[in-house]
Amino acid sequence: MIPCPVRVANDADCAALGEAVAGAGKNYSDVVMFTLGNGVGGGVILNGEVFEGGVMGGAEIGHQVIRVNGRLCTCGRKGCLEAYVSVPALIRAAGQVAGKEMTLDNIFRKAEQGDIDMTEVVEQYTLMLGQGIVNIVNMFRPQLILIGGTMSAYADKLIEPIKEMMKEDCFGGVTSLVPEIAIAELGSSAGMIGAANL
Ligand SMILES: [Zn+2]
Repeated sequence: MIPCPVRVANDADCAALGEAVAGAGKNYSDVVMFTLGNGVGGGVILNGEVFEGGVMGGAEIGHQVIRVNGRLCTCGRKGCLEAYVSVPALIRAAGQVAGKEMTLDNIFRKAEQGDIDMTEVVEQYTLMLGQGIVNIVNMFRPQLILIGGTMSAYADKLIEPIKEMMKEDCFGGVTSLVPEIAIAELGSSAGMIGAANL
């Protein structure tokens, strides 16, 4: 994550704002960006403005509990989304199943080739991420979900199943608003653009 150049918003908020005003979210007023890298960050844009909350720092969408008493998270709580869908979490899960160190490229290539273990690892990852996204959709009712960070390079493989999950599981399902989901476009320049728009 590129640090927010002006340090008045958290880095993920800054990048999300950049995406919202100039990138994949530019035609939407309500956008939530999931930044999937070493951790799980996020930025929430509501009515075209960064949601900061009562204390500076915005939403911590990676630290919603997705499994009660689950894996220990970096924040000290158990079962947070971050403990399941950060890049290190995915690499660790794949490594345990494969019995050797795996890279993201290896994981997704093997899954694509039909490897049963890696298909299962990717499916489990997608399930956790999808449920985390649905939770956030139910809370903020955004028009658009953006996937950014390191995982955005692989997000084309995740988006279709997550779309289905959103149709199935978002409150009201297809009779209500099911947001679009897209890959963030601006990469490392998102934070700069976001800062310029704060
Ligand atoms: Zn946590």
